[in-house]
Amino acid sequence: MKELEERIVRDGKVFQGEVLKVDSFLNHQIDPMLLEQMGKEWHRLFKGERVDKVLTIEASGIAMAAFVAKEFGVPLLFAKKNKTSNISDNVYVTDVESFTHGRTYKVQVSKEYLHAGERVLIIDDFLATGNALIGLINLCKQAGAEVVGLGCSVEKDFQNGGRMLRDMGYRVECLARIKSMDPVAGIEFVH
Ligand code: 5GP
Repeated sequence: MKELEERIVRDGKVFQGEVLKVDSFLNHQIDPMLLEQMGKEWHRLFKGERVDKVLTIEASGIAMAAFVAKEFGVPLLFAKKNKTSNISDNVYVTDVESFTHGRTYKVQVSKEYLHAGERVLIIDDFLATGNALIGLINLCKQAGAEVVGLGCSVEKDFQNGGRMLRDMGYRVECLARIKSMDPVAGIEFVH
């Protein structure tokens, strides 16, 4: 998506360790006009599918996933990061290894809001190794829900999560795909 790529080039900051910061429009301060366009783009890509629910993970995925859910006219459900070791019987829970923080954490959704047979579109901000998306897929599997597809705003192609998920048979639609990035040389996109 041209507008997103241009924004990444203009306002994104590349850090050592293969991390791109987009705090000025996506991860801290939010540009609702850009996110609305992104929501429309995912709707265009997936509108041939029946989507009953959009699923994301707190916190950064919530804003953009809300725009996607609005386009489809369906609810948005976000998985919560579990901060305590108390797991109730009423939740589906899975482990996610964090790329940016280098530790494993638990994410959960209430059984009340994810059901067998529901068709779920999963949305997140970044696709790196694919662990966050695998966690969300696991929650859907536990519920017996069907994953329609996966959408990420930024895919870092060189980290292979996208390849793994596509090899597993999932449809993955990322709005900006980064081929390479470097604090000095800048960012190159896949087209
Ligand atoms: P994965 O699980 O695919 O390795 O990483 C995805 C998760 O890690 C995303 O939910 C995102 O929060 C975080 N992440 C991965 N790479 C980046 C990055 O380059 N920049 C930012 N801001 N977050 C990232």
